[in-house]
Amino acid sequence: MTTPAQALSLILARIAPLPAGLRPLPDLLGLAAAEDLRSAAQVPPFLNSAMDGYAVQAADLAQATPIHPVRLKVLGDLPAGAVSSHVVRAGEALRIMTGAPLPEGADTVVPVEDTTRGEAWVEVRKSLREGIHIRHAGEDLQVGQLLVLAGQGLRPGDIGVLAAAGLPTVRVHPRARVAVLTTGDELVDVAQQPGPGQIRDANLHAVCAQVTACGGIPMPFPRVPDDRETLRGVLRRALEADAVLTTGGISVGDYDFMKGMLEELGAQRVFWKVAQKPGGPLGFWMLGGRPVFGLPGNPVAAMLMVEEYVRPALRKLMGFARLHRPRAEGTLEDGWSGKAGDPRTTFLRVRVRREGDRLLARLTGPQGSGILSSMLLANALAVVPEGVERIEPGGAVRLHLTEEAEDH
Ligand code: AMP
Ligand code: MG
Repeated sequence: MTTPAQALSLILARIAPLPAGLRPLPDLLGLAAAEDLRSAAQVPPFLNSAMDGYAVQAADLAQATPIHPVRLKVLGDLPAGAVSSHVVRAGEALRIMTGAPLPEGADTVVPVEDTTRGEAWVEVRKSLREGIHIRHAGEDLQVGQLLVLAGQGLRPGDIGVLAAAGLPTVRVHPRARVAVLTTGDELVDVAQQPGPGQIRDANLHAVCAQVTACGGIPMPFPRVPDDRETLRGVLRRALEADAVLTTGGISVGDYDFMKGMLEELGAQRVFWKVAQKPGGPLGFWMLGGRPVFGLPGNPVAAMLMVEEYVRPALRKLMGFARLHRPRAEGTLEDGWSGKAGDPRTTFLRVRVRREGDRLLARLTGPQGSGILSSMLLANALAVVPEGVERIEPGGAVRLHLTEEAEDH
């Protein structure tokens, strides 16, 4: 059987980022830059005022105090967006608004709060250091300055900088369109009252939400009954997507058709079954150049598999450089004991809290793979390697912090 680490590297080795294209700024949030992005402009583009006030020569104000203010002649008004042809000389001032270009001759801006406004004059009550309250051309960004690295996900702040830097379009990788198929005769729609032997389809919603959460576009397909011909048709249509996720029918039950059908359609098996608990029967195929994940039917297992394997794969497909959630060492407060001689890695759903520089983890409840409610409180997975049968209360455990952004 494939180990979790092998499974992940087998998957990632087969995935290449989707082709990049130029997209406008309003479309960029959450997408990965496909190349290093450099400023096309100097920001600010010109010397300008950082305050509403008066452009002056600081030397004029050397003696200014509240009791003996200095009176300057006002040459005119300069709103932001306008340019002045006035030259400010000794004894003169130009009324200036934040962002307006500093007029020739002036070296400093007096904030309006430190002045008294007259008819054609202004009194300044305070001396000022030369050069204060002005912003120099290029003090924020230089032409050619590196702003964003290839593979970085774009956040609102990045997009603001790109706009100021004169980049109306940017080369990015697209979101992955991900077909989500749930299978099983027992499944009914959430809004429906399940009849005898039926259950509500939790996976469709859980898995679609996970796809959205990692930046993909889920394409939910109509539920597939345990019927080979229906499955064949739906799988064919699902190949319009960039990746395919199926749940259920992947094990060795009499109605588990997924594996056989994928291979009948020409899918190349990379592996089937991972030595882990919960969720052994994960299969991974390539079909028509697309990754196909056969996830277990069990909702806890399916979601865990998406978190551990599908999410890094989709991130790689979408061009992100960082694929993996932060790893950390923590303390398992309540301890755990497993089966002796179990050759599988166990993933425990835990709630982690920080205490100083320590991470304290508690199990979220019963850890059976059918216990969906264990997902409710979880904010991390504790990973117990094969061969470890027991963790004493307060023992060390390896954590995957599943609510923090990928850091490697
Ligand atoms: P399977 O792998 O198809 O045998 O499914 C394993 C278990 O997961 C069974 O108890 C199924 O009823 C359950 N299951 C399968 N698919 C779903 C689903 N979409 N939502 C909730 N439970 C499911
Ligand atoms: Mg089934």
